[in-house]
Amino acid sequence: MKSTRKRADINTVTWEKFRWLIRSIFAVQDKEILCSKFFDILPRYVDLQLEGKDVEKFFPEIGHHLHQCPECNEIYQALLQVVQSEKDRDKK
Ligand SMILES: [Zn+2]
Repeated sequence: MKSTRKRADINTVTWEKFRWLIRSIFAVQDKEILCSKFFDILPRYVDLQLEGKDVEKFFPEIGHHLHQCPECNEIYQALLQVVQSEKDRDKK
């Protein structure tokens, strides 16, 4: 079977893992609402960023939140690395 050339979309399993992780981190915190909004957009954010887009322009709130929330920033950095390495692997 030939595999059609798909867009290098982020592995669903990876997202599921991250969502689980995120939920367990933020389940007990009050800022859950803001942070959960952040995580809804984060996949797009990371994707666009790796495409070289000006993400702060597309999602100013997210850029702002990243500067304000160390927890989200940490997850964002981790996610960026994971997605980056997945894309690199796809190219091979
Ligand atoms: Zn946050």
